[in-house]
Amino acid sequence: MRAVPVFLWHSVADDPPPWIAPFTVTPAVFREQIDRILDSGLQVVPLRRLVAAVRGGAALPPRAAVLTFDDGFEDFYWTVAPVLADRGLPATLYVTVGALHPPGGEPTGSLLPRSGRMLNWRQLTTLDLLGIEIGGHSQTHAQLDTLCGQHCTDEIVGCKQRLEDTLGHEVVSFSYPHGYSSPAVRHRIAEAGWTSGAAVQDRFSSASDHPLRISRLMIRSDTPTERFGAWTAGRGARIAPLPERPYDKAYRAYRRLRAAVGSPVGGPPQD
Ligand SMILES: [Zn+2]
Repeated sequence: MRAVPVFLWHSVADDPPPWIAPFTVTPAVFREQIDRILDSGLQVVPLRRLVAAVRGGAALPPRAAVLTFDDGFEDFYWTVAPVLADRGLPATLYVTVGALHPPGGEPTGSLLPRSGRMLNWRQLTTLDLLGIEIGGHSQTHAQLDTLCGQHCTDEIVGCKQRLEDTLGHEVVSFSYPHGYSSPAVRHRIAEAGWTSGAAVQDRFSSASDHPLRISRLMIRSDTPTERFGAWTAGRGARIAPLPERPYDKAYRAYRRLRAAVGSPVGGPPQD
């Protein structure tokens, strides 16, 4: 089984607010990482090609990679998009719709701290026109596997509707806030018409991966250069699919319990 690295970045900035700093790389490091990917001989393909291969369609090139970005930080517009455009690289940007705002206006609200500089809807439309694939990352960045029925559906369906109304076309790629999903969440995702769901898991994806649980490699501010280099060479992580670990199931039960008593694990983060 060939390893397919699906890279995940969040913010690319020199001066992030503290809550997102551990998941931020500087523009200089980001450019180095992109060049490292290209120098390694990986061929960056659109996410939809991986999803097609996973679903039994056309095979991927021998050394394929996918670039993804979560949350919808404004630095994608100013910093990331020009680097990708310079090199002609496709990417998918998953946005938390409640964190985006009209130009000069206020967002409808999300669990992400307000100090994060997020995209406005006009910038998002421009990125879409430039060929960046826009995907959904829920309405409010809730841990979907801790939500009950209708609340969970609202996050999933509402996010899709809002993006499609704004962009004027279908939006089919979803990524789970915090990477958390469950069989019930994945069922709702499919029912709502999303054709893929991206998780985290710190594993390589592959043509045998689950389309609603695509494994990604998350890049953090402290990801060592050597580890990143190993990933570009197809080393340093296991290859999905692997069965869900008992630990993940137990941890989900714990997070559900904490959410039920009004004290969710890990969130919402404080400024
Ligand atoms: Zn996120």
